[in-house]
Amino acid sequence: GNIVAIVGRPNVGKSTLFNRLIQRREAIVDAVSGVTRDRHYGKTDWNGREFSVIDTGGYVVGSDDIFEAEIDKQVELAIDEADAIIFMVDVESGVTGMDEEVAHLLRQVKKPVFLTVNKVDNAKRAADAVEFYALGLGDYYTIASTNGSGTGELLDAIVAALPEKEEKVEDDLPRFAVVGRPNAGKSSFINALIGEDRYIVTDIAGTTRDAIDTKYNRFGFDFNLIDTAGIRKKSKVKDDLEFYSVMRSVRAIEYSDVCILIIDATRGFEGQDQNIFWLAEKNKKGIVILVNKWDLVEKDTHTTKEFEAMIRRETAPFTDVPIVFISALTKQRIFKAIETAVEVFENRKQKIATSKLNETMLEIIKLNPPPAYKGKYIKIKYCMQLPSPTPQFVFFANLPQYVKEPYKRFIENKLREIYNFKGVPVVVYFRKK
Ligand code: GDP
Repeated sequence: GNIVAIVGRPNVGKSTLFNRLIQRREAIVDAVSGVTRDRHYGKTDWNGREFSVIDTGGYVVGSDDIFEAEIDKQVELAIDEADAIIFMVDVESGVTGMDEEVAHLLRQVKKPVFLTVNKVDNAKRAADAVEFYALGLGDYYTIASTNGSGTGELLDAIVAALPEKEEKVEDDLPRFAVVGRPNAGKSSFINALIGEDRYIVTDIAGTTRDAIDTKYNRFGFDFNLIDTAGIRKKSKVKDDLEFYSVMRSVRAIEYSDVCILIIDATRGFEGQDQNIFWLAEKNKKGIVILVNKWDLVEKDTHTTKEFEAMIRRETAPFTDVPIVFISALTKQRIFKAIETAVEVFENRKQKIATSKLNETMLEIIKLNPPPAYKGKYIKIKYCMQLPSPTPQFVFFANLPQYVKEPYKRFIENKLREIYNFKGVPVVVYFRKK
């Protein structure tokens, strides 16, 4: 999908706009997954167009003495990752030196930039806003992100400018995104996997950015590898701040079918690994965790089990993610890693016939009906899998609003027990027939 980034110096109101954009949508997502971990990334839609929003202010929001270098990073992140950029300024403070600096960077960009003047909530301020023409970015939009005025016009313009994404790919080969924090071993894994370029079959070059999707044939499998590690190494923005490294995974994750999350065995499963994990989960992608550098770990008979248990605790309730212990250095279990990713891809792709599904699930529901709510009995009459790329099931009931989270989880777990959804987020809806 498309990505829209919000840039600008601190305290101009980036996060207020961000929250306004994703709020309505996030509430729905929360009800399904039960978790929101990253407040700087979310999905929204406008007039039926869905897109992701990144608040590139990220972790530096609120710090007044922000360095110019930090702003440069934000803008570079936005330029690299986004399809459109909202550059936010504040009518109260007028044009500042830092605004000029950002404008200078953005004037050189080919992507659509929306200069947005915030806090315009009266006629005087609307008149004051003209000074922002001086930034040389052309016309601007005025909004008041606290009450939402002006956001409709801004969103209309953004949606109109977003490039139509070719969601349909030429092949139906698995798309694997190799993700993980810096130094986890992403590049080493890819090198171990593909050796040299001789394994490359085709190179699908994007028109506006570096190729991120390359077709390979290894170990008897055909797959597309989405490798952003290489591109990042060349970038000015070293992913030193966690925020930048997580946000840099967004495009790769969105573009993939299965995320291969590489973690460093010598460091455990840290906050940054977890954020990337939940980003993949939130996008309903298949997930495989590779515990890399296993050659460096001193092992006894319990080590693997303990390490696995630790990851299971951190990824609960999504507990059936395949975990493979590898060494990119010695190439240990590299084949197993790809084989597992292919399995997860197949699990995610499966479509269950409606008759079979009803036969098994309605029987289970008959034996374990949802608890009555305030004396009202909930009857589930019918279920089906939706034709989405990720497994989604809808159960039709007389009173769907009274089906609570534990029962949804129970149904999800039953689906997981009966069908093989190892490594795949499964979504369960209850709807009125
Ligand atoms: P990236 O930033 O995720 O792409 O990580 P790199 O692939 O650049 O690896 C970071 C460092 O870890 C490098 O010094 C690698 O040589 C080292 N490394 C990567 N994988 C392994 C491994 O399996 N075992 C050992 N011992 N070192 C590794």
